[in-house]
Amino acid sequence: MEEKIIEFIHVGKYFGDFKVLDDINFDVKKSEIIVICGPSGSGKSTMIRCINRLEEIDEGKILFHGKDIRDIKPIELRKKIGMVFQHFNLFPHLTVLENVMLPLVKVQKKKKKEAEQIAVETLERVRMGDQLHKYPSELSGGQKQRVAIARVLAMKPEVMLFDEPTSALDPEMVNEVLDVMKGLAREDITILCVTHEMGFAREVADRIIFMDKGKIVENTDVETFFKHTDNPRIKEFLSKIM
Ligand code: ADP
Ligand code: MG
Repeated sequence: MEEKIIEFIHVGKYFGDFKVLDDINFDVKKSEIIVICGPSGSGKSTMIRCINRLEEIDEGKILFHGKDIRDIKPIELRKKIGMVFQHFNLFPHLTVLENVMLPLVKVQKKKKKEAEQIAVETLERVRMGDQLHKYPSELSGGQKQRVAIARVLAMKPEVMLFDEPTSALDPEMVNEVLDVMKGLAREDITILCVTHEMGFAREVADRIIFMDKGKIVENTDVETFFKHTDNPRIKEFLSKIM
């Protein structure tokens, strides 16, 4: 049996009276790459934000290695489950190197020298090794996002969550970020990625989860997903983005 790393069991969440997540059930096995897509406002961001407790759920439970995440301190959870956002969220007053070193020193309590070594190695992996002393304002969007990925990757998380990591980028920068993510996908890391990049999904995803109005409409392997254009909601979605 493959190990389940994350399980959603009858998960529900409200914002006021509005039910943003409605009876969400799925599991993620170790090293799986899952792409989450669906119309804007369908609850994709909220769903992945619940995994590292940036949002709290109201119904059901989420398990990480079989343990209810409410019994794991958010800081401990976030050491193992890293998140990359649409808008990079780099610290503008810190250099590329300092941005990546910061969580290693502050969260993982590493010595500066060790943190620097890990940060440099990780930045080399995302091909930013020659930009260590630049500030975010001196970088392109694609470069900023690669630094943001390095910052999470340097923490050696078990799971990486990506929330539309390329949707704020100019089109010519999308591929440099997707290429870095494809590199990660070939490693042992478990990835949940909200994206509308269906070429990326086709190439690397093990499964696609399609959401609409707070529900999972489809959770299937990539081949099946692209054949399921008989589902009107998926058909409409695909026709808009492809
Ligand atoms: P998606 O990522 O699929 O676009 P979201 O998870 O961001 O969807 O949002 C789902 C719905 O919940 C949207 O209608 C959005 O307006 C609403 N929503 C998201 N965050 C909040 C919040 N903090 N407070 C109230 N409503 C929210
Ligand atoms: Mg979103």
